[in-house]
Amino acid sequence: MSDFTGAAILLRRIDYGDCDLILTFLTREDGKASAMAKSAKKSVKRFGGILEPFSLLQVVWKQGRGGLPILQEASLESAFFCIRGDIRKTAYASYWTELVHEWAEEGAPQASLYELLRQVLHGLDAGVVPAPVLSILFQMRFATLTGFRPELDRCNVCGLPVEAIPAGRIAVDIPRGGIVCEGCGGRAAGNSPISRGAVKQLLWAGRDDYGLACRVRFSDRSIREGLGFLETFIPYHLGKRPKSLAFLQKIRGTANG
Ligand SMILES: [Zn+2]
Repeated sequence: MSDFTGAAILLRRIDYGDCDLILTFLTREDGKASAMAKSAKKSVKRFGGILEPFSLLQVVWKQGRGGLPILQEASLESAFFCIRGDIRKTAYASYWTELVHEWAEEGAPQASLYELLRQVLHGLDAGVVPAPVLSILFQMRFATLTGFRPELDRCNVCGLPVEAIPAGRIAVDIPRGGIVCEGCGGRAAGNSPISRGAVKQLLWAGRDDYGLACRVRFSDRSIREGLGFLETFIPYHLGKRPKSLAFLQKIRGTANG
């Protein structure tokens, strides 16, 4: 890891000894990267108490002699105070940042993923688009950018287009990565049903146009079904269930509402 100057979103913060912190960031230019913040725990003055998870910062770090680079400067670009003041929003932001942290590898540029995370955090902070809708947008785009986009426009076995599958006969098939029709197993195999409306709205949400996706009108049922699908699908294909997802579902009071 080399020297770095620029914008970064703090993904994870862990204690190191009595005084220091190890910070993991997502940057636009260098992807995921870690740095050591010396004395950040001991002296709040050192970094002004701004090294909080999912803060958007301007940072400077320099490579020391071996080990992690050392954080030299950090200033706040956005603290997302409206997220921090709301435990439900904090739970969503924690889930998104944990997904990014789990998936991204250090040193691989992730400009699109950085932009996506920055946009949904700003959206969550502004509060115009409901948090569950932003979570659907984030997860659909995250799945696409990370290479496990769900196949939702046709049956994953026979290829029958979703429009041609009779209403009430569509089911999600998590291991296959999308939906199946009744003739190919459907709900008989223990899969959850999903409405055609929810499938259509997920497809809209997955488009590479954040502004347009934000304007999709989701019904309550589609939100419920969409979250239920994505919060099962993404951990399954990531190979890991994020700890923050259990927290989010507990705060929300339901696994898919
Ligand atoms: Zn089929």
